[in-house]
Order: sequence, then C-alpha cells, then structure tokens
Amino acid sequence: MSAAPLTAAQRQELKALLLARRQELQAQMQQNRSNLAPAENTAGSVSQDENGRLTNQTREVDAALTSLDVDELARIDRALERMAEDSYGLCVECGQPIAFERLKVEPMTLHCVACKSQRERKQGLRG
Ligand SMILES: [Zn+2]
Repeated sequence: MSAAPLTAAQRQELKALLLARRQELQAQMQQNRSNLAPAENTAGSVSQDENGRLTNQTREVDAALTSLDVDELARIDRALERMAEDSYGLCVECGQPIAFERLKVEPMTLHCVACKSQRERKQGLRG
C-alpha cells in the first residue's frame, strides 16, 4: 500500500502546523530560560522547595526540556527546509511518501512508519 504524495492543500496545512508548533516552542523556551536564570524570587508560587533539593531537580528538568525543545525546533526547521526543497513528506530512509495522517500527527517527521519502527527497534536493542 503506497501513500499518495501530498497535495498543495495538505502541504499548506502541514506547514501551518509546523509554524504554529515552532512558535509554541519558542515561547516555551523563552519561558524556560527565564526560569533557569538566576532570579532571586520570581516564582512566588513554588511550594515544593522544602529542602532546596526539589528546586534543583525542577531546574534540571527545565534544562532537559529546553534541550528537547532545541532538538524539536531543529527538526521543525529541517522539515520547513525540505518543504522549500520540495522533498518534504518523503522518507529520508527509503524515499517513500509518508502518509498524510502520520504527518498531521507529527509534521516534522522525516521517516515513514516502517523505517521509524525499524529504527526504534534497533535503538531498543541497546537498552
Ligand atoms: Zn521509509
């Protein structure tokens, strides 16, 4: 079963999704960055820092989230680049069109379902 290549309207829809997601991420990162900044007492509502250790933990999580965001942002940019090159929606591994339904869920994906599950299986072997 082969997926049909994207129509112009579908591509437009996915581009809008990517741009919206990018904006969301950028806003989130900005917020995280201000959380990470050595502020004296910006968050008055934090109630978990009974012994200070929890506060550190929260910061580590924020830092991890930020690096995930950076990662996702890079993937979004790459997807937008591929869109400009007209290669968007094709699996980078096998060159098959990626189903529109899949792209709608994860518009920055570069792999079709088959290749992705294969990669995940390989990665899973390490653990
Ligand atoms: Zn593939």
